[in-house]
Amino acid sequence: MLSLPFVWSDDCLRHEPEAEIWVGTRTAATEVPARALAIRRALAAAGAQEVPAVAHDDSAVLAVHDPALVEFLRTAWAEWSAADLPSDRVVPYIFARAELTGGRAPATPTAVWARPGLFAYDTMTLIGPGTWQAARAAVDVALTAVDLVAGGARVAYACCRPPGHHVTRSVYGGSCYLNNTAVAATELLARVGGPVAVVDVDAHHGNGTQEIFLGRDDVLTASVHVDPGAGWFPHFLGFAAENDAANLNVPLAPSTGDEGWLDAVRTAAELAEPARALIVALGVDAAADDPESPLEVTTAGYREAGRILGELGLPTVVVQEGGYDLATIGPLVVETLAGLAR
Ligand SMILES: [Zn+2]
Repeated sequence: MLSLPFVWSDDCLRHEPEAEIWVGTRTAATEVPARALAIRRALAAAGAQEVPAVAHDDSAVLAVHDPALVEFLRTAWAEWSAADLPSDRVVPYIFARAELTGGRAPATPTAVWARPGLFAYDTMTLIGPGTWQAARAAVDVALTAVDLVAGGARVAYACCRPPGHHVTRSVYGGSCYLNNTAVAATELLARVGGPVAVVDVDAHHGNGTQEIFLGRDDVLTASVHVDPGAGWFPHFLGFAAENDAANLNVPLAPSTGDEGWLDAVRTAAELAEPARALIVALGVDAAADDPESPLEVTTAGYREAGRILGELGLPTVVVQEGGYDLATIGPLVVETLAGLAR
């Protein structure tokens, strides 16, 4: 039996991206509502206690994100749908790169169809009718889990969807809109004191979280992920060259498997040792059955990763990130939490 609280919001199901535009082609979305439902079913069957998310005001979101990004996400669908455009989802076609404007702040485009290019850094991360409501609910889920841990729970799990770790302070991408992990870490820091640590075991580099806390020593960030140099998202970031005293990337070769992956998780856990509290950014897409990852970690490997992180003995908020195999996502989350909470 799994004796820990997990936070849930039905609103997280409202985001239905339907598709991703990948290398110019519309492909079926993998970040689907059924992911969260599969996790919820597995947690309930394992005996974890469901706690409804409590609404929190925007202060914790605005402590992490540029207000312009938040306002864009809040209004993007209404503006797009009112403009009667050929795409049924908000998608950028032009990108406001700093090099384009010679370092000047880009103008806010009058054309609704150009505006996503101020805030999106890829074409995969589409916005539809319930996207804002789901992304904002995912933040409430994470903040409610922080409340539980600040109130004395040793471990609380936040069933966040959509995920968040690819979102920087001002730009979104990677199927993520608001950085739930970074918001939770900032709030946890305010509640329990620092430093706090974020250990990200998603198969992909937590580039947004890294960028948000870059140069700070009160939030320690570690990420274990498939080597972006081997051709994996986010491609431009996630290398060991970005490491400093408060940020650790451990890029791994494809097909690394349990032994090498767990060594990397142990190295990441060491960075978290001085912390007062821990956020685990739990992506289960490093698992062997996942369509998005080549790392080939087993369910037993995830359980052991949970045990390694649990041995730190820190108050811990677990925030859901990636994981796309609907048959195994639930058991992988349950096993990781079982390792963490035992
Ligand atoms: Zn991932």
